[in-house]
Amino acid sequence: MSKSFFPPQRTLMGPGPSDVSPRVLAALSRPTIGHLDPEFIGLMDDIKGLLQAAFKTGNELTLPVSAPGSAGMEAVFSNLLEAGDKVIVCQNGVFGGRMQENVERCGATAIMVQDDWGLPVDPDKLEQALVSNPDAVAVAFVHAETSTGVRSDAQALCALARQFDCLAIVDAVTSLAGIELCVDDWGIDAVYSGTQKCLSCVPGLSPVSFSERAITRIRNRRQRVQSWFLDMNLIMDYWGGDSKRSYHHTAPVNAMYALHESLLMVQEEGLEAAWARHDHHHQAFVAGIEALGLSLIVSPDARLPQLNAVEIPPGIDEAAVRRHLLQSWNLEIGAGLGSLATKVWRIGLMGHAANQQNVLLCLSALGSTLQ
Ligand code: PLP
Repeated sequence: MSKSFFPPQRTLMGPGPSDVSPRVLAALSRPTIGHLDPEFIGLMDDIKGLLQAAFKTGNELTLPVSAPGSAGMEAVFSNLLEAGDKVIVCQNGVFGGRMQENVERCGATAIMVQDDWGLPVDPDKLEQALVSNPDAVAVAFVHAETSTGVRSDAQALCALARQFDCLAIVDAVTSLAGIELCVDDWGIDAVYSGTQKCLSCVPGLSPVSFSERAITRIRNRRQRVQSWFLDMNLIMDYWGGDSKRSYHHTAPVNAMYALHESLLMVQEEGLEAAWARHDHHHQAFVAGIEALGLSLIVSPDARLPQLNAVEIPPGIDEAAVRRHLLQSWNLEIGAGLGSLATKVWRIGLMGHAANQQNVLLCLSALGSTLQ
């Protein structure tokens, strides 16, 4: 007979999910109420306001999609693109490749701008692609590439998109609440994120936000959005400001309590203070990593504080190290992805988990394992 599942008490320092704060877990266990209960509708309003603050936007269409980050990605592309559209996709890691998949599955064409993994997206290459493709309707890129630990200059890339009259689509799954992200000031038209990274919330929700320009495009589509579940025209009736709050799908009520609590924690700390905390603990972590004789693959100016890609020294069985950390230290770090598999460990300092205790734990665990 199967038994109830009691997970081990791990410290999560991989690429996500990150450690969920006990406050968020406590919120998750509160009694479930109906998703159209007036109290829940009040909570939805509050979540929307808190998300707008976290994204630094006044966008009316800001909400958590009831599914993980990949669904937020799919929601953005499937609503904004139609068959025959051309989109410039900048790729410098795994998740830019997923953007390409999404574009192509919408029947659109992806013009790829490639940069080496470990480097940020090069604005000059984007500009050349924009000049060569005056019929492109959008530019898409990943702000924080979780597969490599690289931050791209979202502000510069969005400015170029705007200059060439393209919509700017940004993957902020790993950046939201971890590094500076200013949706309105930078002119982002559509952004999606995840709850399991720097929000320290449970996985399974994807905050998204659309500008007025993006909404106009969605409302004026020639074809219906292929996905019923992700069609923002329908979701607007459930989440929109003056909406009827009419039934669309059964919201994951308890996950929303969790998201609300995690957003409250961001508000209480202050967004800028949260960015600074990530940076502070990242600097300490890097100093420790270098003292262990290890190094990061990304140059200091493009490093993500919340995701550190540490080069694996020659002769090390990287999977055995991760296994040992998990079994003996209850500590999870991440393996490399794609072309960086077996070349790096990905060590996250995300959200609630970006703290001194975790920095010291990881450095001692790694140091003693590698001795
Ligand atoms: N985009 C980026 C940059 C990510 O790091 C991830 C997940 O790690 C995703 C998209 C997909 O999110 P999810 O795994 O929640 O579907």
